[in-house]
Amino acid sequence: MRFLREIAGHQQIVRTLMNAVTSDHVVHAYLFAGPVGVGKETTAWAFARALLCMQPVAGDACGVCRACRQVEHLNHPDLYTVQPSGASIKIEQVRGMLRRIPYRSYQGGRKVFLIHQAELMTADASNCLLKTLEEPPGDTVIILISDQPQSLLPTILSRCQQCSFKSIPLPELIGGLVDLHGLDPVEAGLTAAMAGGSMGKALAYLAGTFQAERSLAIGLAHDLAGSGPLEALAMAGQLAEQKEKVSAILDILKCWYRDLLVFAITGETGILYHLDQIDVVEKEAGRFETGRLLGILEEIETTRKKIEANANTRLALEILFLHLAKGTGYRA
Ligand SMILES: [Zn+2]
Repeated sequence: MRFLREIAGHQQIVRTLMNAVTSDHVVHAYLFAGPVGVGKETTAWAFARALLCMQPVAGDACGVCRACRQVEHLNHPDLYTVQPSGASIKIEQVRGMLRRIPYRSYQGGRKVFLIHQAELMTADASNCLLKTLEEPPGDTVIILISDQPQSLLPTILSRCQQCSFKSIPLPELIGGLVDLHGLDPVEAGLTAAMAGGSMGKALAYLAGTFQAERSLAIGLAHDLAGSGPLEALAMAGQLAEQKEKVSAILDILKCWYRDLLVFAITGETGILYHLDQIDVVEKEAGRFETGRLLGILEEIETTRKKIEANANTRLALEILFLHLAKGTGYRA
């Protein structure tokens, strides 16, 4: 579990939260909104720990007191969380959690309530929460976390202090990966570029089979450039069957063609992400005109959006791979 002082990016939000703890100007409801994987959850847990810490240091949790250890072990009696059960957060869940609101905290400090994926609250659940937000007791802090805040009731939004989490700028994400996760700068640069400003994604890459997926993506790019349409369709079909890999492969492909484009335009290697593959980048970049590389980058982005919007994965990949295949995508 991270401390507020360890959160990468989001410095302004972190400063605001730490100042609130230091000055005891904590409001009773916060909304942590922003894209998936950008650090909302991590920050919410860190903030909850700072709020419950018995001897906070500069607005952040001390990490050693009993309350800090209890939060870390997820057994602090005054910390309540609710997650969606199935596709929604139901009124019984919210009611059950808020039942503690009128009572004093067990440990004499605050009571903290975390609502994950708050946009999934049913209308009943939202209205139940709204009643509490109208008149919360002073020792209560409710933190709503959502990547789709537009789906929350406006009346709920207006009662929360909103913290908007943005994608983390690349240099900050790289810095975070080097400082906090001990990566070397080259690996950090590559991972951050793939993750597109999401620390969650970057960490998932590191924990998962990222290098294997990278070899697969680079191999695909190479094979497609020499393949006809039928082979391209077959490759799309194969990848579509490994659905869990598709998003990562698209991220890596985008980063790969970006490197080819950068090298094709500038001839520089120092600004490439795939620094361990310079020879391959040089060779592959020579196979494309720059205009075609730009088109490919756009096409990958379009494909990713289609798949995120629940389009048929196989069909979307087929269209993309036909673009990537030899001799297609052009009309003489
Ligand atoms: Zn503490």
